[in-house]
Amino acid sequence: MGSSAGDTATGDRRRRVLLFPLPYQGHINPMFQLAGLLHSRGFAVTVFHTHFNAPDASLHPAYDFVPVPVPVPNCMPDEANPDAVQATLDHILAMNRACEAPFRERLAALLEQQRTRDGVACLIADTQLLSLLDVARELGVPTLALRTGSAACFRMFAAFPALCDKGYLPAQESQLDAPVGELPPYRVRDLPSSSSSACFAVISEAISRIVTAAATSSGLILNTFDALEPAELALLRQELATVPVFDIGPLHKLSPAASNSVLQQDRGCLDWLDTQAPASVLYISFGSIASMSATDLVETAWGIANSGRPFLWVLRPGLVRGAPPESRQPPLPDGFHAATRGRGTVVRWAPQEEVLAHPAVGGFWTHCGWNSTLEAVCAGVPMMCRPSFGDQMGNARYVDHVWRIGLALDGGEVERGEVEAAVAALMDGGGEPGAGMRRRALELKSRAAETSCLNVDKLVSHILAL
Ligand code: UDP
Repeated sequence: MGSSAGDTATGDRRRRVLLFPLPYQGHINPMFQLAGLLHSRGFAVTVFHTHFNAPDASLHPAYDFVPVPVPVPNCMPDEANPDAVQATLDHILAMNRACEAPFRERLAALLEQQRTRDGVACLIADTQLLSLLDVARELGVPTLALRTGSAACFRMFAAFPALCDKGYLPAQESQLDAPVGELPPYRVRDLPSSSSSACFAVISEAISRIVTAAATSSGLILNTFDALEPAELALLRQELATVPVFDIGPLHKLSPAASNSVLQQDRGCLDWLDTQAPASVLYISFGSIASMSATDLVETAWGIANSGRPFLWVLRPGLVRGAPPESRQPPLPDGFHAATRGRGTVVRWAPQEEVLAHPAVGGFWTHCGWNSTLEAVCAGVPMMCRPSFGDQMGNARYVDHVWRIGLALDGGEVERGEVEAAVAALMDGGGEPGAGMRRRALELKSRAAETSCLNVDKLVSHILAL
């Protein structure tokens, strides 16, 4: 039996938490934010990591780091694996397999060493690292699973086999707008699917492993909060029954964690934002994985240019499929710079949380990754959503239809006229629907700011009692 949440390490030998983030930006950030919270409560922290997207240990002098050396399998779409979603999921499954043996060896060595030190309380790993959660349990280490998406998304993942049985999935083109009766407000188009049966099989496997990771652990940690998803959290607790659910978000607001950006953030864009009028700038970023075709890039660029609004655009290397080498920024269409001179700035990667919190930012064109969505919610910035895969469509549905703090673009190819109209609707703070979205976004921001650390206390007590 452990001690209470307020204790320090003295007299308690089970105060080291082991963490294993999935090495992708949207998963690294919340895991390190969680690390910051647990460390501030007196836990010693050990982070296991791959060499792929390895964290910068010098940013966290108080933590121990244990590299798990595995060859880095290719994760970029290529001729053998042209689908970006399938390539990413294949990479994650390959990483699980490749890490298993070296992780077992390193964890066993650490447990041996820790018998005379802090004592290991648990492993907290990303739900996409099921193999490593299994290894820890086999070695007698209690496990908790961190899912870096919403409660609604987890419920949908848990219902995935039933949705397949009922014929919603794989999604048929003619059924995309059909409501999923069992899971409002989802429509068929909001569910993860693929027209390729090989890709759909990998999606199904990845989702099943995520759900198993949570169901076989001693707790599910979610980066969300009750005021945002009250019904979804209540239902999830009923459905998971024996696995406690800890909604401890918004992590980036509650945690003292330093930035863990894989790409270098261009901080100069904050100076540029300082020169812009309040709520005038459209911020555009599609996260760290989503990609677009060269044609979509051209339409996106002209949509932004023709909107006439000031903008800050993150054009990350690798964003455009088939564009030249990784290190280069994707090329913009001829005439774009001349058409937007003095009105916008394009960067490779931005300090996004600070950008969204900047008073000059009035709207966010996003792919609706869960971190980006949550960061915009907490900053009170309305969104224009163009989701591409996984949980992004469902997140966009909540933004547009449930919280009503943004609008979703039609799926499919980007079209400059549609972009221009959507930007006008989003950024026009004086007229509807822009004013309504902005008002609701600010209300939700205040609710987010009221979130306390009570659930973190519950998590700490739970860990100590494992
Ligand atoms: N991000 C950033 N700079 C950028 C774009 C994104 O620091 O220019 C961060 C963003 O703040 C978020 C993460 O990268 O925390 C992206 O996570 P998300 O879940 O939104 O999307 P993913 O990259 O996983 O698709």
